[in-house]
Order: sequence, then C-alpha cells, then structure tokens
Amino acid sequence: MTMTTPLLGQMMDVPLTVPSLLTHAARHFGSTEIVSRRIEGDLHRYTYRDCEKRAKQLAQALIALGVAPGERVATLAWNGYRHLEAYYGTVGFGAVCHTINPRLFPDQIAYIVNHADDAYVLFDTTFAPLVDHLAPQCPKVRGWIALADVGHLPAMQTPVLNYETLLQAQDGQFEWPELDERQASYLCYTSGTTGNPKGALYSHRSTVLHAFGASLPDAMGLSARDAVLPVVPMFHVNAWGIPHAAPLTGAKLVFPGKDLDGKSLYELMESEHVTFSAGVPTVWLGLLNYLREAGVKFSSLNRTVIGGSACPPAMLRTFEDDYGVQVIHAWGMTEMSPLGTLSKLTWEQSQRPPAEQRKLLEKQGHAIFGVDMKIVGDDGRSLPWDGVAFGDLHVRGPWVIDRYFRKDESPLVDGWFPTGDVATIDPDSFLQITDRSKDVIKSGGEWISSIDIENVAIAHPAVAEAACIACAHPKWTERPLLVVVKRPGMDVSRETLLAFYDGKVAKWWIPDDVAFVDELPHTATGKLQKLKLRDIFRDHVLPSALEDQKDCPLTPLSPHA
Ligand code: ADP
Repeated sequence: MTMTTPLLGQMMDVPLTVPSLLTHAARHFGSTEIVSRRIEGDLHRYTYRDCEKRAKQLAQALIALGVAPGERVATLAWNGYRHLEAYYGTVGFGAVCHTINPRLFPDQIAYIVNHADDAYVLFDTTFAPLVDHLAPQCPKVRGWIALADVGHLPAMQTPVLNYETLLQAQDGQFEWPELDERQASYLCYTSGTTGNPKGALYSHRSTVLHAFGASLPDAMGLSARDAVLPVVPMFHVNAWGIPHAAPLTGAKLVFPGKDLDGKSLYELMESEHVTFSAGVPTVWLGLLNYLREAGVKFSSLNRTVIGGSACPPAMLRTFEDDYGVQVIHAWGMTEMSPLGTLSKLTWEQSQRPPAEQRKLLEKQGHAIFGVDMKIVGDDGRSLPWDGVAFGDLHVRGPWVIDRYFRKDESPLVDGWFPTGDVATIDPDSFLQITDRSKDVIKSGGEWISSIDIENVAIAHPAVAEAACIACAHPKWTERPLLVVVKRPGMDVSRETLLAFYDGKVAKWWIPDDVAFVDELPHTATGKLQKLKLRDIFRDHVLPSALEDQKDCPLTPLSPHA
C-alpha cells in the first residue's frame, strides 16, 4: 500500500477548555441558581452569571498575586459556591486547581502540598486549625487564603489573606485567555491506602470530554430541569465531574457545605427541590436511617448515583422500593476522572423479568463511550465476558491517566491502565467489581469475592455494616472472616449470621468466622480500610484452622468439593 497524506477534516479546531463550560452556563442559563449551605451557617444563593463574574474576579486576584499559568492553587474546602469559583477562577487562566482531601492525615496533606508545590491554598475556615498545623511544614506556599466573609476570620497563628477582600479589589472585567486543551486543569491525589498519595493531573480536554460523558442520558443524565446536590465532595475526584456537567447542561446546583448528616441533607433536598444526587454508600446509609426514623419520604428526588465502593443490593432495594428513587450504581477511580461504568438498562434488558433486571442493576454497569475495558488473567491474556471469569481490570480512554504527576515510570501495561480492581464482565457487557486485587480472598488457589460476602451480610436486618477480609488458614492459605457492626438495639449471633448465607453463595464462600465490633475503620474517602482491618485481625484464629491443623495436607486442595 502506498503512503498518502491523510485528508484532514475542515472543521474549526476550537480547543476543549474548562472555562467555556461556565461561560456557556452564564450565557444560556444565566439566571439558574447555585444554592449553598455556608460555613457561616446561612443559605447562600446566586446564579451562574454571578458565579462567572466572581470566578473572573478570583482569576484577576490570583494573577495580581503573581500566580502564573501552570502553577498549582490548592483548595481545602467543602462543597460550596466559593469552591466552585475556585474550580474556574484558577483553571480559567491556565493555573491548576489542586483539590486537597482534608480528611487525610495532616502529615499526608503536608506531603501532598509540598509534592504539588502549591503556590496558594484557599481554605474554608473549618480547616483553620489544620492550616496552622500545615503552614510550618509547607514553607513554599506563598499565601493561605481564607474563604470567608470579612469579619468571619477565626484567630490563627498563620498570617492569612481574605478571599472576599481579594475579590473586592477586582472588577471582573476579564476575558478567559486562549488555552491549549492539553494544558493541565485539575490535580487530584489518590487517597493512598498504601504508600504516599499519587497525583492524577487532568487536562482541559480530559475534563471537558469527561463532562460530556458524565452528562449523557445513560450516564448521570443531567439536564436543565434538574436540581443537583453533589454529596460527593469537590475535594474528591472533582465531585465525580458534577461541577462541570451541571454548567454544561444548565442544571441547578445545590451545595450541602459541611453538614452531611441525614437530617441536613434531607431538609436541603426538600427545600431546594433536588431531583438528582450522588455519593458514597456510607452517606446514603445515614440518609436512609434518618428517613426511616423520621418517617419521611422524598418529594422531588428521583435518582441518585451511588459509587466509590460497592452499593449493597439492600440499599438499592430500599431506595427504589421504599422511596421511589432510581439508583444508578457507578464505578470509577481518581485515575479515570473518575467515571467508568454506570448501571442503566437497554430497552431489551428492561423487558426481562424484574429479578433479572435487578441482578444487572446491582452490578457496576456498562462502560460509557470513552472508556474501553478488558479483564485479564495472570498471563495478561484477555478473559471472556461470560460473567464468570474473574480478572484484573484494565482500562484506557481520553480521560484515563497516562502517568502520575512527577513520577517517571509509566503505570501502563501495553498501553492500558491496570485499575487494581478484580472484575467479571457478563454477556450484557455489565461490569461487576468483585474486589480490589489486594482484598480478594484466595482460598485453596480459588478466589472469593469479599464484596459478595459483605452484600449478603448487609442484607440481614441486624447488620449495620460488614467487612470481609482474608484470614490465614493452614490448609486453604486464606479463608474469609466476616467483621460486623450490629444495628443499634439489635442482636444476631455468629451461627444465625452464618446460616443466613445458606443458598445465597457457594458453600465454600461462606465465612469461617464472624467477629463483632463497634465500628469499622474507613479511609478518608469513606471506604472500608481493609489493610488496617487485616492488621487488627492478624492474629485471629479461625475455628476451622484449629480443626484443619490436625490433618493439614501438604498440597492445599480446592475447597470447591
Ligand atoms: P482511592 O483514592 O481510595 O483509590 P478512588 O475514588 O480513586 O479513591 O477509588 C477508586 C476505587 O474505589 C476503585 O478502584 C474501586 O476499587 C473502588 N470503587 C469505586 N466505585 C466502586 C463500586 N461501585 N463498586 C466497588 N468498588 C468501587
């Protein structure tokens, strides 16, 4: 074949840049509201038009402070209008918005600030004590800016600037400069359950493409008729892209601030006619508990995305059957901006028997256009999409990480990003995460999905929360141990709980033991901290281990039999 010059398309090469999202909202949905519960205690409301003006004032203020394009400006803040201004007022002129998770250990935060080389840090006053702790360890930060009204500054050791004073000095007459779509936009660090956190540096192009993908009808499906309350924090993976997808679609935004308890969320959802929300299962547990205790229902909420960790089927059923709220189960990760898959049915799937539909919806769902995925075995070969074969999940796409910030070695394997998750993909191409690869329980050489075991336990009425971890076993190498927190005022015995598994999972998947605890350790992003749990139960002796020690064979047999 002879090489020819490709015939190029003749359409405009307009870069995909983040500030264009807010400009679009300000122009076309200028009077649509952004409502925020503030740290100051009141409810603040203004519009996309106001938001763009203040984001421009912030850009002017940061430029006046000497922040150059490419430099990092960090945020330590709850979901609120000032945080949204920071999302656009930094990135809009080419700086990078580095969102810090304040729930990390302070020393980890200091590591992140120094690693990112943050020029300024914008912070909610809730975090004033944290800033006082960080400032001496982060000498390269040129200034700490308090996101507060004048007169609301707490007493601090660190000299700080006031956000509102900085904004007042600017007129907002500012044009967003032309940017290259490949320029960096946001910097998000993984929570680092092992080792130091690693930075994922998004680009304008990846952020905008992700916002398109997130908005699709079979993804989050946002529209200008929605009022969206992101419970998922803006300091965690860009609140799953909602701060970009909402202006893209013209949805109203409702920010809950720092109060994420069931009552506060419910009241805000009701008063602002919220139709759509998104968050991790732990938060929804609190909300559902409140609804049950208070005996109230939603009058406007009709769907919610649940992700970040597996949504227990029992939670999905409660939302749908008791409260008429559609649950969209989603999977993703920081390295993927984060959205990968969401559980929505095709027309044909929605004609199947209800139990079959539900089985599909309990899975993490279908890839959105832009995310390519495969599951591979230990030899790196692709496994079949039969819903049975477990494998390491690899992904690629325009909003998937290529390399970590300030790290030379590439994390990719043959051009694919290994997610660290273990999954099956079924013939409907629905993904099901069975484990983090380090959490999978390897019993006699076969894998047991800890998520499946936890889901059964959580469906028991006396169980509030459950974690399943691997416990050392002389015969099978590892066997599952179930660690359970009981619901207040309810009781259940080890035997009853184990009997509850009969007929629900393969016999050899049933845990060997149950330990009851008052609470389970969680990571800064609300996930079960299994590493810590395994540490706590390192010396736990399974009753089955004592029995099997008597006649331990040299070669472990598969407990399948
Ligand atoms: P971290 O910083 O803790 O890695 P991420 O939000 O990036 O935070 O976590 C991504 C991981 O969370 C995924 O790799 C997966 O293990 C887990 N996860 C996310 N969503 C789900 C889900 N719906 N079901 C099961 N696991 C999930």
